[in-house]
Amino acid sequence: MKNQFVADTLYMIADLLDLKGDLFFKTRAYRMAAQTIEALDNDIETIVQQGRLESIPGIGEALAKKITELVQTGKLEYLERLKKEVPTGLIDLLSIPGLGPKKVAALYKNLGITSIQELRKAANNGELRTLEGFGEITERNILRGIQLLEKTSGRVLLNVAYEDGNRYLSYLQKCKKISKINIAGSLRRMKETIGDLDILALSNDPEAVMEHFVHYSEVAEILAKGPTKSSVLLHDNLQVDLRVVEEKSYGAALQYFTGSKEHNVTLRGFAIKKGYKLNEYGLFDKNTEAYIAGKTEEEVYKKIGMQYIEPELRENRGEFEAAKNKTLPTLVTYDGINGDFHVHSIWSDGSDSIETIASVAQQRGYSFIGITDHSQSLKIANGLTEERVQQKLHEIEKIGKNFPDLRIFCGTECDIKTDGTLDYSKKILEQFDFVYIGIHTAFKMDKESMTQRIVRAMDNEQVNFMAHPTGRLIGKRDPYEVDIEQIIDAAKETDTRLEINSFPDRLDLDDVHIKQAKDHNVRFVLGTDSHSINHLDFMRFGVATARRGWLEKKDILNTSSVQEIEKIIGT
Ligand SMILES: [Zn+2]
Ligand SMILES: [Zn+2]
Repeated sequence: MKNQFVADTLYMIADLLDLKGDLFFKTRAYRMAAQTIEALDNDIETIVQQGRLESIPGIGEALAKKITELVQTGKLEYLERLKKEVPTGLIDLLSIPGLGPKKVAALYKNLGITSIQELRKAANNGELRTLEGFGEITERNILRGIQLLEKTSGRVLLNVAYEDGNRYLSYLQKCKKISKINIAGSLRRMKETIGDLDILALSNDPEAVMEHFVHYSEVAEILAKGPTKSSVLLHDNLQVDLRVVEEKSYGAALQYFTGSKEHNVTLRGFAIKKGYKLNEYGLFDKNTEAYIAGKTEEEVYKKIGMQYIEPELRENRGEFEAAKNKTLPTLVTYDGINGDFHVHSIWSDGSDSIETIASVAQQRGYSFIGITDHSQSLKIANGLTEERVQQKLHEIEKIGKNFPDLRIFCGTECDIKTDGTLDYSKKILEQFDFVYIGIHTAFKMDKESMTQRIVRAMDNEQVNFMAHPTGRLIGKRDPYEVDIEQIIDAAKETDTRLEINSFPDRLDLDDVHIKQAKDHNVRFVLGTDSHSINHLDFMRFGVATARRGWLEKKDILNTSSVQEIEKIIGT
């Protein structure tokens, strides 16, 4: 059912029109229609197909046309145009609880406010209360609204923190007084969401380093500035802490500030058992307080009697036992990836041609790329009819000739219907190089039915991979109800590889389930689920998640040669 999606889009249009100061009756029409659609019992897609939209009260010809476009293409030109007419920051302001489009428009027109940062500053300076329709109470409520927003969305997705962190790092590296620098904290462990950024530096002139740190152009606010520790807030609200430490403590501090807390608590316990004391300054003799180690992380782990533990494994999920027995996995690396199995092209809902995707894949040094457009019933994503599948196979064959060093696989992301059957006939499925299956509709089934639906689909002989196995969208949509153990068992039995979807909003399977599946001898594929060539870089986050799930090269098909892959998928 696309009803909520259509309703949300109409609400968004109404808000944008209000921001633009459009006529009241026009915006009211959108809100009324949104409410009506939200409350409909019938599937809006069916209504569109039957051409019955205009029989719904409040939906006239113009609105019916827009809804049809939205349902059939998943996009609306009118909305895209509107968005361009309104400064982007204003759309963010609308997400502050209690702040409607009328007030946002007034803030923009009178004070030129276009971001949450600017709004906070103006409210703190008492500037808002001077506006007509605002007062001290409104001002206070707005500040409270900003706080609430930050509390609920205080963490950012891994890719945002990764980009912020690395940009900051290259700026800091320009400071000649820094002799060594590392990102620490949960970003170093590549967790799926990040609260704030921790950076650690080595320098014999810490004050010069702090000066350089707070003068970064992306800094919105300096929260604290001290001789060896400072904190700033970036324009996108991410907090960054920098600490400068001494050489003999650098490794111990890096270990300490990388975490996780659970890992560190356990590690300190092991240190004590050995007669040591471990803190951010180093490893010391428990009785004499004599310094034992601390310059590097490696020497700290070694002195405590274990193998070096990679940051992604530091979650107290069995890494200590493995480190003591010297059985830690040799984790898969980003450099070991030879291609991407999950990319959408303009044939369905992607924005680039197969030719463009192939040339970018080649530039990345990939030896293969998998083009996986949606299947026929997914009309909202422009899924391919059986006839268009034939045309696409033909086109890939043609384009392939121009890329002798790149194998372009023609795959599909085939929808699993509610009864567990697939969205293409066997005859069609056989023609693809490989078949991904995925859930894109009816997310709200009960656990048993959903599990049976997927298990039945996996049982299909043509199926190779299962896309985004739990369907979650981090911070936006919970996983559907499913018995993951049964899915893992079925994956093993049917030899279906589970995907680690590398799109930062998904990272699905997650690290915990990956390890669980690996322990059951299930194997994996990585796919970025790219809908644009810019998304191909997300591979990095899939690899990071695989590492957090203890995966090695042999567990992941993307590390194999084209010949080995062809053998395994049976083309
Ligand atoms: Zn999908
Ligand atoms: Zn996809």
